[in-house]
Amino acid sequence: MVPPMTNLSKLTACPDCDLLISEETLAAGEKARCPRCGTVVRVFINNSIDKTIALAVTGLLLYIPAMLMPLMTFEIMGMRGSGNVLDSVVVLFENRHSFVAIMVLLTSVFFPVVKLFLLFIVGFCLKHRYYPKNLPALFRAYQHLAEWGMVEVYMLGILITIIKMHNMATIEYNIGFFCFTALVFITAGSSVMLDEHLFWQKIEKNTRSTETQKTVAIETAFQQTARRANLIRCHDCGKLVYNKQLPANSIARCPRCMAELHMRKPASISRTWALVLSSVIFFLPANILPIMRVYFLGTPGDSTILDGIIYFFHSGEFGIGLVIFTASVLVPLFKVIGIILILLSIHFHWNGWLKHKTKMFHVIEFIGRWSFLDIFVIALLAAMVRFESLTTTEAALAAPYFTAVVLTTMFAALAFDPRILWDTCAENKEKLRKADDHTNH
Ligand SMILES: [Zn+2]
Ligand SMILES: [Zn+2]
Repeated sequence: MVPPMTNLSKLTACPDCDLLISEETLAAGEKARCPRCGTVVRVFINNSIDKTIALAVTGLLLYIPAMLMPLMTFEIMGMRGSGNVLDSVVVLFENRHSFVAIMVLLTSVFFPVVKLFLLFIVGFCLKHRYYPKNLPALFRAYQHLAEWGMVEVYMLGILITIIKMHNMATIEYNIGFFCFTALVFITAGSSVMLDEHLFWQKIEKNTRSTETQKTVAIETAFQQTARRANLIRCHDCGKLVYNKQLPANSIARCPRCMAELHMRKPASISRTWALVLSSVIFFLPANILPIMRVYFLGTPGDSTILDGIIYFFHSGEFGIGLVIFTASVLVPLFKVIGIILILLSIHFHWNGWLKHKTKMFHVIEFIGRWSFLDIFVIALLAAMVRFESLTTTEAALAAPYFTAVVLTTMFAALAFDPRILWDTCAENKEKLRKADDHTNH
């Protein structure tokens, strides 16, 4: 029997389990979920382009005062100290923690503005029907940077710093604090209001891709995956592309966004293992070595992450102690154990709980960046608590290890391809079916 011809533009595939889904079933409602694994496949936003442009422009206007105006002024015994976001980077460089300083610079100063700028450019071009050749590349760059701009994590760092200092100093809030708070809400709004699928559709319409209208023969079997239909889902823009036989050494590219095409993320399992094991190695020095050094009347005192948490519990601030304990100890542990469990379940073909494992992976992906909290708090304290003769604070030995733990776990989540979980399950079912057929004949 010849399978029916299907237009590729009428199909999509779930990014998590690879299930083929027809576009029509996705059209209704604001959020469309995959019927097999429950992942949100698409979100529909009204007037996404206008809203995105407005938010990006507001964010860009707020950016300079948010970064350069002082956030707060601390006053202790008549001495006053204040600092802005940029100071918290500079002080890390001064303390010779270049690696940590570069990470704080990128995540809290550089990427946030690049993200807003890219979003503005892409939105503006789409709105005015202007399609430069590198528009797909700009939008892809935005998508890749999305989780690396961390103003909201930095904001939580500011709040923790305030709570840490409110017993010791009188705190005055400066204009930078209000601009930064506004910037956090505007940045969050811009990513919520962005309808990525709509943006890609508009970009595609004007790159005159021939692939869109291509029809392919697809068996419309129940729970058919893109892989079995010989279709590749682009990692970057989500487009389905027919898997052509290419000569060796040539790279297939997505006709819409020009990203490299792979059926699954290349060497996903081994790269994820390598990254998660390196984070285990960094985890020990990150927690054993002191992360912060406080000079009080010229005498240095070191404290580890755990000391900082115990301090809050002792002073009766259980809520804040719990937040720091969660962000700096529980979250990294949960990430490492979670990823290792997922990898082991693939290795040993534990095929149950697929939906739960996919969900757990998403939680790991989502919480990754929040562990930077501790680093931001230390950078802020170092920038603001500089009362020369009385007390100063600086980052200590564990800071680069802790940063490395957060980075490696984030990269591990990026390297992992959740579809492999569902693949191994499908392979098993196939084997069972074949064995069944064999015994029946
Ligand atoms: Zn799915
Ligand atoms: Zn693509």
